[in-house]
Amino acid sequence: MYETIFLILGKLSVLVFFLTIIIIAFLSSIIAFNIATKKILFPRLFSSLIVLFYGMLKAVFRFFRIDDKIVDQTYIHVQNEMNKEKVKKTPYKDICIFMPQCLRSEKCPAKSFGGLVSCINCGQCPVGEAKKKSEKAGCNFFIATGGSVIKRLIKKYKPKAIIGVGCIYEIKEGLELCAKHNIPTYGVLLLKDGCVNTVLDWDEFYSVLEKN
Ligand code: SF4
Repeated sequence: MYETIFLILGKLSVLVFFLTIIIIAFLSSIIAFNIATKKILFPRLFSSLIVLFYGMLKAVFRFFRIDDKIVDQTYIHVQNEMNKEKVKKTPYKDICIFMPQCLRSEKCPAKSFGGLVSCINCGQCPVGEAKKKSEKAGCNFFIATGGSVIKRLIKKYKPKAIIGVGCIYEIKEGLELCAKHNIPTYGVLLLKDGCVNTVLDWDEFYSVLEKN
């Protein structure tokens, strides 16, 4: 009796092992295809599989000494491409924009309260201008100090679309969270991340904001 159970479990383990290898090989080939052709194959299935096999994919990339950030960048790219049109079609009043506080000037005079920075558009960094333009268009614009604030704001404002700025980790987490809540989200990656003096491609941000 136990022998039969162990035999079945053994066969199942081998099957799961080979299936996992096939899926990882499939995902790695699609990532390579996406990078080479800049086209996206099976976007929905692809991004779900990346989330499911995230840890393993990263391990495979590290094993072959390939920068494992490619996995995150590909996921972000696929999500952005899937969501771009939906974000464009959403009225500005239903869009929330989240900026990280690290983009501010080191001499920023703005006060923080409840995890949010109240920018006074002092002119010392480009965030003030972005806030002004976003709010003029009708969006809700926030400079957040952490992910928990963003979750709270999503519950409060119930946006129909989101434009988020952040590092790879923040954008990937944010896109996953918004996908679970079914909120189309476009993530703009920082060109240089860190705790202070980060850099953003403002042209990319404005092209999303201005729906170009
Ligand atoms: S523009 Fe706003 S965010 Fe930038 S330094 Fe001035 S107050 Fe701070």
